[in-house]
Amino acid sequence: TAATDALDRLTAVVPDFPTPGILFRDLTPVFADAAALRAVIDELIAPFAGSFDVIAGVEARGFVLAAAAAVLADTGVVMIRKAGKLPRPTVSRHYSLEYGTATLELHSDELPPGARVLLVDDVLATGGTLEASLGLLDDAGLVAAGVSVVLELTELNGRPRIGGVPFATLQQV
Ligand code: IMP
Repeated sequence: TAATDALDRLTAVVPDFPTPGILFRDLTPVFADAAALRAVIDELIAPFAGSFDVIAGVEARGFVLAAAAAVLADTGVVMIRKAGKLPRPTVSRHYSLEYGTATLELHSDELPPGARVLLVDDVLATGGTLEASLGLLDDAGLVAAGVSVVLELTELNGRPRIGGVPFATLQQV
């Protein structure tokens, strides 16, 4: 597809980032290219057309994808943020990372209960981030319409942590 061609051409593969032994896949060159960005956004939302009311993105690269996708889909966008950034009452989920822990938050009253949310992010790795994000949607009384990511790192086996929510990825490595 146009998106997978662009990803093959533009994704930067960076050894030993952020720590030794990690092979980091950097999508920022894809975001920086107009045709690539458009193709990725088109294909990110296509499988879920008509099934969502709003798009949620996870800080920080997910924000770029979510905002672009929301404009294209003619929906609003909500931000799932790292702890302490949102000024009004939030729902909050604490989760484990490979090293350490993290907390994600979402304003609890931003959307009407039952709103159908498409959750987007750049990479599914261990799945902890998206699992916590799905928990936040649940805590806020929202419905997860789907999870759509650009890249799935299959070795890390994150998919089961998405549970039964419809999942799509543009690329697997
Ligand atoms: P997870 O919680 O282990 O699935 O990690 C997912 C989070 O880490 C996502 O928000 C990704 O943006 C980030 N991440 C993990 N590995 C990579 C990578 O190789 N490239 C870019 N982001 C990554």
